[in-house]
Amino acid sequence: MKGIRALFPALLLVGALSSAVAQQTFVLSEHYPRSQAVNVVFVADGYTEPMFENFRTDAAAFRDAFLADSTLSAYANFFNYYGIFTVSAEAGATAENITNDAQCADPSIVKTTSNTAWGSSYCRSNIQRLLYVNSASAVQNYVRGVIPEADVFIVIVNSTRYGGGGGAVAVANRTSPQIVVHETGHSFVGLADEYDTDYPGYNTVISVNITSNSTRETVHWNYWIEESTPVPTPKDNSAYRNVIGVFEGAGYHSTGWYRPKFNCRMRSNSAHFCSVCGEAWILKLYGKVSPLVSFSPDPAGVVEATEGESVPLSVAVRVPAENSRTVRVQWEVDGSILPGVSGETFSGFLSAGDHAVRAIVQDTTPLVRRDANGLLRDEAVWTVVVGQGSAIDAGPAARPAPVAELGVGEVTRRGLRLAVPRSGLHRVELFGADGKRIGDLGWHDFSAGEQFLQWPGNGLSAGNVLVRVTRAADRATVEKRAVVE
Ligand SMILES: [Zn+2]
Repeated sequence: MKGIRALFPALLLVGALSSAVAQQTFVLSEHYPRSQAVNVVFVADGYTEPMFENFRTDAAAFRDAFLADSTLSAYANFFNYYGIFTVSAEAGATAENITNDAQCADPSIVKTTSNTAWGSSYCRSNIQRLLYVNSASAVQNYVRGVIPEADVFIVIVNSTRYGGGGGAVAVANRTSPQIVVHETGHSFVGLADEYDTDYPGYNTVISVNITSNSTRETVHWNYWIEESTPVPTPKDNSAYRNVIGVFEGAGYHSTGWYRPKFNCRMRSNSAHFCSVCGEAWILKLYGKVSPLVSFSPDPAGVVEATEGESVPLSVAVRVPAENSRTVRVQWEVDGSILPGVSGETFSGFLSAGDHAVRAIVQDTTPLVRRDANGLLRDEAVWTVVVGQGSAIDAGPAARPAPVAELGVGEVTRRGLRLAVPRSGLHRVELFGADGKRIGDLGWHDFSAGEQFLQWPGNGLSAGNVLVRVTRAADRATVEKRAVVE
């Protein structure tokens, strides 16, 4: 049934779209389920039907451009990459023959046109290299119909002329994948341009990676700046090329605005994201997915275990990239960290009684220095009720130790311990704080020795109880008051 229902909308979708655009979807790489990943989708424009393999090759090159950045490669497994081959009637892009801005605005120059799936054209806003689709929202809506979990939308235009643009959908010509990495810094992470070319009237706003403040004490990325780095930081001294500082020139202002590094992907397509931008990327990734991928069993229920035996608790933690183990686990029992226990499966032993066991999962990467919202940390907490091995379970090797006097030991939510000097029938009754009888377990035949008696059902709730045990042979009784926690 499930398979049929899943198939039905897919068939409808292809039917509805086949008149507009035929499509073929493929996976470039997928490390986690879509709900547990950031899903990057490449969409074709200006590729005709026989060009499927060209698009697949171009999409792989675009994926590799993301992976070439040092921050994004350190978090490579957070990303899934998909291609959607939407077929165009004609190859290329509109205004592909235009080579400068003046020509864009010149009505006497005939611009070539290409009838493509998404209408990509150069010369948008009369800027020659501004290459963009007709409607970004049409692309987004279409992609969401195919991959509802899409996070990053990228159109690859089948042209070798340099051009691209950003916004809700990033666009680049097929030989310029570096453009969309920068554009995704805007659209997905909210980073600002670190360009210092003056653009009078540009509405520059303080962002993660730019500011109009040049005071060390108050610059918002100052926890990345070494004491030995002067602020503002000289741009003409190569000693400061690779450190974080406060460099003048950012946000389309040559003066009065500052950036964290001499060069960064938000300034130049040949640079990597700087530490400030890289930290923002990682925080954004953890804003969507947890460092804790899964846990077992479901912490909603009570986990039952037996003293002296292993407790079956485990988590699966995120692996940011191949050979990257920055996500670590700490195990805490009743508020105390267990030293030396760090595996994904709990390896400690618990004494009889109720325990709170917590798995604390944390990405310890040095690429994030400030995580104000605790995004890099998550945890699972279980209530574990550990009982002593019961008389029935105890084999010959665990024969109860002999005791001299009838007695009631520890009373917990799970059961009670009894000292039974002579085998035979015993009755166990329970009374509440007001003296009313709240339970009668009836007569049980106990063997001699230390016993553990498990309460039936879900056990006791917290509170004051009185336990009375009566021996059938001589009507000897023993009582104990206890506080069940
Ligand atoms: Zn930067």
